[in-house]
Amino acid sequence: MYYINGEWHESDQKEQITNPATLEVIDTISVCGGEETKAAIASAKEAFKTWKKTTGNERSAYLFKTVKLMKERVDELAQIITLENGKPLPDAKREVLSAISYLDWYAEEAKRIYGEVLPASHQDKSLMVIKQPVGVCGAITPWNFPLSMITRKIAPALAAGCTIVLKPALQTPLSAIKVFECFHEAGLPKGVVNLVVGPAEEIGKALTSSPDVRKLTFTGSTFIGKKLVRDSADTMKKVSMELGGHAPYIVFDDADIDLAVEGVMLSKFKNSGQTCISTNRVYAHESIAKEFAEKLAKRTAELKIGDGLEEGTDVGPLINEKALETMKNQVADAVKNNAEVVAGGKVFNYDNGDGYFFEPTVLLNATDDMVIATEETFGPIAPVFTFESEEEIIEKANNTLYGLAAYCYTKDLGRGLRMMKELEFGIIGINDPAPIVIQAPFGGIKESGMGKEGGKFGLEEYLEEKFVSIYEN
Ligand code: NAP
Repeated sequence: MYYINGEWHESDQKEQITNPATLEVIDTISVCGGEETKAAIASAKEAFKTWKKTTGNERSAYLFKTVKLMKERVDELAQIITLENGKPLPDAKREVLSAISYLDWYAEEAKRIYGEVLPASHQDKSLMVIKQPVGVCGAITPWNFPLSMITRKIAPALAAGCTIVLKPALQTPLSAIKVFECFHEAGLPKGVVNLVVGPAEEIGKALTSSPDVRKLTFTGSTFIGKKLVRDSADTMKKVSMELGGHAPYIVFDDADIDLAVEGVMLSKFKNSGQTCISTNRVYAHESIAKEFAEKLAKRTAELKIGDGLEEGTDVGPLINEKALETMKNQVADAVKNNAEVVAGGKVFNYDNGDGYFFEPTVLLNATDDMVIATEETFGPIAPVFTFESEEEIIEKANNTLYGLAAYCYTKDLGRGLRMMKELEFGIIGINDPAPIVIQAPFGGIKESGMGKEGGKFGLEEYLEEKFVSIYEN
C-alpha cells in the first residue's frame, strides 16, 4: 500500500514481507515506482502552498493528534516492528515510545520558530531575518529502526511547515504504513504527507532529480548516501545524511570495569548490533584487558538468542542473509589473522529454522589489519583491541573514515574532557553507552554524514533563513 494525496492506493505489483526470525511471510503489499513518486511530489508541492501558511499552533495540533493515536496503538506498533525487523518486543516497544516522543517534541517546537531583528547599519533601514519552511522534502529511511527513523524526519519537517514524500526500507514498510494511518486519521490535509513503497533506485531517482523536492533527508549506508548527494547536486537540494559509523569504545585502566562491560552489552548487542552508533572497536588498556575481556565474554555468553516475540529474548535475528554472510566473513578473516573467539563466533540455528541468527561474539587479539578494524560490522561482534597510552588511543580511535559516535570509560575528569575534545565524532559518550536523547543533536561528521536530527537542531534543517532589508523612505 502506498499513500498519495490523502488516499491509499493498491497496485498489481506485490512484495512479500518476511519475518527475519522465521522467514515466514507476514504480509503481501502493493508497491509503486517512479511515476507514483512523481505524483506524490506533485501532491506535496500543491499541499505546500497552504501548509506553509498554517500557524505553528495549527501544525502543532495535527502532530499532537497523531501522538494521541499512536499512543493508543503502542502494543500493535511494537508487534509489527518485531515481526518485520526481528528485535525483541520490549525493545520494539521502546522504539515506539521514542518514535512518539519525536512527534510530541516537535509538536511543541512548531510553536517556537523565531526570526531575528538585526541592528541596522543605516538609520533609515530595518533589518530582519525570517525563517521559512524549505519546501517539499524527500525522505528515505532504513530498516533498523523502522518507526523512529520515520518520525525523527517527518515530525520536524511538518513542524517547520514542509510537506514530505517518504520512502521506507522495503524490508520494513509495515510500521511506515501504520504511522501513515495515524497521520490520515489525525486529518492532515491532503498531500502534506505521502508514502511511496517500492524499488529503491527508481524512487530515489524520482526524488533526487525533481527540482520540486527542495530537501532530501536520508538515513542509511554511506555508500548510498554518497550516491544520493551526487544525484541531488544537479538540482542543488539541501541534504541531510545520517550514515554509517565505526564507533570506538575505549576503556582506560582507571575505568569502572563492570560498568564498561555492561556498556558494551548495551552498545554492541542491542538491536543485534544493527545500530549506527553501535560499538565497532573495543579498545581496552593493556593492564586491564584480560580482566575486562573475561568479564565481557562471560556476560556475552549469557545472552539469550531467539525470536523477538519470545519472552526473555535478548538478541534477535539479523535482517537478512547478506548480513549473516558479513558476520561469517568478518569472523573468518579475524581468526585467520590470529583473533581468538572467546564467545559465540558462528551462525545460530534457532529452533531448527531458517532465521538469520548469529551468536553474540567476542574476539580477542584484534589487530588493525583485520577487516573488522575498518569495515562497519552492523551485527553482534565485539572485537577487543589493546592500547598502551592516551596519545596512542586518540590516534587509533580517530583512524577511520567515519565520525558518528565514540565512547570512553575513565574516572579521570581531566582525561574525559581531553577525550571529549580530541575524538573526531559527532556524538561522544563518556561512561555512557547510550548518548542519545531527543533534545540533543544526533548526527555524524566525516563520512558519517552531514546535518543533525533531534531537538532545536533538527528543526533548523527544515528551515531556510531569509534576510529582509527595509529602507524607510
Ligand atoms: P541502505 O542500503 O543504504 O538502505 C537505507 C535506505 O536507502 C533504504 O530505504 C533503502 O531502500 C534505500 N536505498 C537503497 N539504495 C537506494 C538507492 N539507490 N536510491 C535510493 N534509496 C536507496 O542501508 P542499509 O544497509 O539497509 O542500512 C544500514 C546502514 O544505515 C548502516 O550503514 C547504518 O550505519 C546506517 N544507519 C545510519 C543511521 C544514522 O542515523 N547515522 C541510523 C541507522 C542506520 P530498500 O530497503 O528498499 O533497498
